Amino acid sequence: MPIKLVTTVADLHAESARLLTGKRGTSQGLVPTMGALHEGHAALARAAVGQNDVVVASIFVNPLQFGDATDLDRYPRTLDADLALLEAQGVDLAFAPAVEEVYPGGEPLVRITSGAMGEKWEGVSRPGHFDGALTVVAKLLHYGIPGTGLPAGEGAEGGLPAYRAYFGQKDAQQLALVRRMVADLNFPVDIVGVPTVRSADGLALSSRNRFLSDDEREAALVLSRALRLLEERAKAREPLDLESALAMVESHPLVSVDYFDVVDPGTLEPLAENCRETPFRGEALALIAAKVGPVRLIDNMPLSS
Ligand code: AMP
Repeated sequence: MPIKLVTTVADLHAESARLLTGKRGTSQGLVPTMGALHEGHAALARAAVGQNDVVVASIFVNPLQFGDATDLDRYPRTLDADLALLEAQGVDLAFAPAVEEVYPGGEPLVRITSGAMGEKWEGVSRPGHFDGALTVVAKLLHYGIPGTGLPAGEGAEGGLPAYRAYFGQKDAQQLALVRRMVADLNFPVDIVGVPTVRSADGLALSSRNRFLSDDEREAALVLSRALRLLEERAKAREPLDLESALAMVESHPLVSVDYFDVVDPGTLEPLAENCRETPFRGEALALIAAKVGPVRLIDNMPLSS
């Protein structure tokens, strides 16, 4: 079926209701994105299409989560290609609202606060980023609640359809914060995390990769190599020896590390003992952020033994 583009919340609800009625409305999936879509986003869309009767992908570059106006202006906008990619995965509806549709009264006075978990790691160099991101995710999760446009009594056996939203493990801190927001504030949605999609040489796909020169792209591979090294050490129940992995990344002249650490996947607190002499046991998450030339990249790897 061709994808349908809607730009208003009213049309989103009407179209979703039409599709849910036709499909007896057992489930709806939401895939929030900022556009400039690549295979990583396609994996989210495919996961959603595989698990739901109706799938909505949103495309919205959220001004609230950009500290810097030039960064916001520079963000790539590729709507036609995005729609083609989403249609190829079987997404039913693309919701691409204007800024005024999402923030009709200007910037919201009341926002989601990400708290201490949003102030570390990415939050250090991007103050306010996660408050802005969670605020728009909260709004998108509300817009996407299935059944909003259905007549009373429609939907799965008269009840509301199931509701799932899909986020990439690539943005591990965002995923952890969204899970906490949904749990702490009782949002009626299941959050599904999708593993990071990488190019064959290991580089995590990102809309920022297009800003890397050939040399920088080559240099950026050291991030995923270092993460893989930790993954192997964790699997082998060896000490992670984070210092040697860090030295490997820092030895590259084009790469400047912002942070590289091993944390608890739920709280994002560092797991100091696992990094040095102790053999690794259990579950953890390795996080890295670095500037490669002028481009800031993030990556991470779940560790388990
Ligand atoms: P963005 O458009 O960058 O805000 O990303 C939208 C969603 O796609 C987020 O949940 C990201 O975590 C996810 N995503 C971005 N890159 C990847 C990737 N390489 N693999 C899996 N998911 C990704």
